[in-house]
Amino acid sequence: MIPYGRQSIAPEDIEAVVAVLRSDFLTQGPAVPAFEQGLCDYTGAPHAVALNSGTSALHVACMALDVQEGDVVWTVPNTFVASANCARYCGAEVDFVDVEADTGNLCVEVLREKLETAERAGRLPKVVIPVHFAGRPCAMPQIHALGERYGFRIIEDASHALGATLGGERIGNAPWADVTVLSFHPVKMITSAEGGAVLTRDAALAERMSALRTHGIVKGSEQLAEGGWCYAQLELGYNYRLSDVHAALGLSQLQRLDGFLERRRELARRYGELLADLPVKCPPPSEACSWHLYRIGVDAAKRKHIYEALRERGYGVQVHYIPVHLQPYYRALGFKSGDFPVAERFYAEGLSIPLFPDLTDGEQAQFIQALVGPAGPEH
Ligand SMILES: *Cc1c(COP(=O)(O)O)cnc(C)c1O
Repeated sequence: MIPYGRQSIAPEDIEAVVAVLRSDFLTQGPAVPAFEQGLCDYTGAPHAVALNSGTSALHVACMALDVQEGDVVWTVPNTFVASANCARYCGAEVDFVDVEADTGNLCVEVLREKLETAERAGRLPKVVIPVHFAGRPCAMPQIHALGERYGFRIIEDASHALGATLGGERIGNAPWADVTVLSFHPVKMITSAEGGAVLTRDAALAERMSALRTHGIVKGSEQLAEGGWCYAQLELGYNYRLSDVHAALGLSQLQRLDGFLERRRELARRYGELLADLPVKCPPPSEACSWHLYRIGVDAAKRKHIYEALRERGYGVQVHYIPVHLQPYYRALGFKSGDFPVAERFYAEGLSIPLFPDLTDGEQAQFIQALVGPAGPEH
């Protein structure tokens, strides 16, 4: 089966993991700080805190921005459920902002109108979570300007977007978000098997997220003065620590990221050419996008047939995303079909096709041949 996405593991990645297994520390050793420093060096972000998943990263980001019961958090329907669930973990209400039809990213015009309405109703969001769908950066300067105007904070869900750039800056190194969230799940840009991170320019936020990762515990000079054994739990945190085994894999993968990006961008350009004569909608070309996904739009009436025909031929195509507000859990909170029509259409027509660094030119060309039959006009 050729999947829509897959990790690339090289001998040096395996060596890095084995070296940790042979060392004194499997967790809370030197690999996690080294990985965090690597993420700072790569992105330009002043602070990075590694966590055991992207979902944990979203959760501590919300907690550090004081999201709590009585607050409202907005995200997009075209995302993985974790982008919304993080606010629910904090007891906040979730609402959604519809997306752009061509990119699947948060639509700034819709956001602007929704903010005007929310201001009149006295129900402005505390935090907005834009998602860089497929690795294509959202219009962050505009979203940030609205944040200044309406007083909300921004967590950018960059789970797809490590290595993507906006205005020449790498995602994670910009004043447009309070916190940038990364995921290192195997299909993402780099992997630590499971893992995630938060990046921020704000030292106090970084310190708080770092404490929340380990029960809310700090060991500052005050504690050390009392005795070397002493620590203080300041608030209710979790065990969201990444292990050194995972961090070593993540750091090794980070050295390979530029190669991954180059190959993904090359494959994306080639898809644009190979798909030009087929009745499918291609994503807008972009060299700034990290191309976590290559999502095409097909005739919604034929989508299931195309999906099944390709699966039968050994292509693990996938659909990104079932709109979050249509999940049974969110429907039970009052959302329904028709609430966010652009995201719903984006879902109905969407198909993510194979794109990962180790996909060969030959495999890509063969995939196009397999797609021509079921996606062609005669079916
Ligand atoms: C993968 C992903 C997450 C969650 O990351 P995990 O590491 O699997 O917890 C969150 N948001 C988006 C958009 C993702 O794609």
